[in-house]
Amino acid sequence: MNETASKTPTASTVKTYAGGCLCGAVRFEAELDLASPVGRCNCTICTKLSSAGLIVKPSAFRLVSGEESLSRFSARAGSPNHRAFCKHCGVLCYGAGDVPELGGAFRSVSVNCLEGVDPSKLTYQYWDGRHDNWAAGPRSTPWPV
Ligand SMILES: [Zn+2]
Repeated sequence: MNETASKTPTASTVKTYAGGCLCGAVRFEAELDLASPVGRCNCTICTKLSSAGLIVKPSAFRLVSGEESLSRFSARAGSPNHRAFCKHCGVLCYGAGDVPELGGAFRSVSVNCLEGVDPSKLTYQYWDGRHDNWAAGPRSTPWPV
């Protein structure tokens, strides 16, 4: 991993952000460090969704409303990892799971769903998920598909 990826957020850079889906059925809050690079991945579903997420511990994420409006998708049967979508408007709000390489249990909060945040102003890092090349760590330019 590069130095940026292993940077530990400090209390001064972590803030609570509100977010949600397009139709408003799903609402969440998350404690995020938006100075940290946002993860993008070249795996098939991330490419199709153009997803961009910040990884946090489950304790830093709260589903405020809309549990009944969520639909969850796992790419592999039996996987602890899934993505949570609003079943009304189709917006991906977050991912959740347990991956040792990511530090165990996590939530991946979609920065595209945050209120008052311009995703074009954030810094991104890129993972080679399409080739299960997690050991290479993130880099500052996209990996090929
Ligand atoms: Zn919705």
